[in-house]
Amino acid sequence: MENWKKTSLYTAVILLVLLLIVIYVFKISVSIPSSDIEFSPGQVTSKVNAEFKDEKPKNIIVFIVDGMGFGHLSLALQTQQTENRPSVWQEFDVKGWHDARSAFGPLTDSEASATAITTGTSTQFGHIGLDKNQNPLKNIFELASDLQFCTGIVTDSYIWDGTPAAFVAHTRNEDNARDILTQIASSELDLIFGELEDLGEDDIPEKAETIEILSKRFLLLDRSLKLPGNNSISNPIAALFDEDEIQDSNSSPNLTQLTEVALKYLSSQDKPFVLLVESEEMDAASHDNDSKRVLNGLQSIQETLSLVLDFSEMYGETLVVFTADHETGGLAAVADFDHYPNMQIRWSTKAHTAAVVPLFAKGPGAHYFADVHRNWEIGYLLKKLISQDIPNGKNE
Ligand SMILES: [Zn+2]
Repeated sequence: MENWKKTSLYTAVILLVLLLIVIYVFKISVSIPSSDIEFSPGQVTSKVNAEFKDEKPKNIIVFIVDGMGFGHLSLALQTQQTENRPSVWQEFDVKGWHDARSAFGPLTDSEASATAITTGTSTQFGHIGLDKNQNPLKNIFELASDLQFCTGIVTDSYIWDGTPAAFVAHTRNEDNARDILTQIASSELDLIFGELEDLGEDDIPEKAETIEILSKRFLLLDRSLKLPGNNSISNPIAALFDEDEIQDSNSSPNLTQLTEVALKYLSSQDKPFVLLVESEEMDAASHDNDSKRVLNGLQSIQETLSLVLDFSEMYGETLVVFTADHETGGLAAVADFDHYPNMQIRWSTKAHTAAVVPLFAKGPGAHYFADVHRNWEIGYLLKKLISQDIPNGKNE
């Protein structure tokens, strides 16, 4: 080959390789600027259909699954047993989504997102019950207690974890365990069921001290979860379990059993209630890309959800709001071509993603959640519903 031809060919090949590298690098690392258009509560985007404006719930159950996105939901729908009843997810009156971004940008953590959900104000990473300038924000439990509601928390995680903490405490970080436990003990909370973890490490008190702090407010139940004899004397109760004791449906206790006891206790009081049910299984499993744990966790979540929706159906007057604080793992169920038409679970990360997350509601007031766009709008609506100050209602 003539020299000039050779040089042109080499140049063309080198240029082509460079072009492919540029395309490849660009394709895998498109950096999205973190634009953050903030709405304030005055600009809430939820529109309310006139025919629903007089619906007021007596009780509210907020069910938060940490880390659950639409990939996890799709998996639940594809793998569940359907012989006996239609999908539990079909029972919701309203099925939508919200953008869980923090005041920092498209990403969030549990503390910031749960704070938005329970206070109606978006905030920074790590902030529990504080706005982005560290000012304390009133949460839905504090508002509910002022208005003579009972309040309760059931979680399969440790009780000072970001999500439950945001319903009670005001502090900079979930690592401030002693501070959060002290705030739980001095709150108006009526019930708390969950785990203890890493006792004696960092700021986490030893078991004896943890029990001493919590005993200032709560009567501690033993493992049988037998409720105190006279339920009419409303005695705040707590049940504490060891790390990872509450896992999937096969664990004893499990989230469903604990929620059943909580509903029995709260509905026996002579007051309306607001209950948080939290499952940490999707986040914990997805950070490890542990597909088996995700499947087991989904089973437990569906069983607990079924119990909660049955309660709402049976007693009426109870609004159930189901959502997630963010998505973890970028999970997708994809075709397994070696064993077609089986599926395989694939992960895109071990971190949180900026994916929008499910937001479902059932019961009186559910329709207010149809047009929610951001996580903090959930808190805004919950506060309005608790105070019976219905947005865009007749009285405005
Ligand atoms: Zn997480």
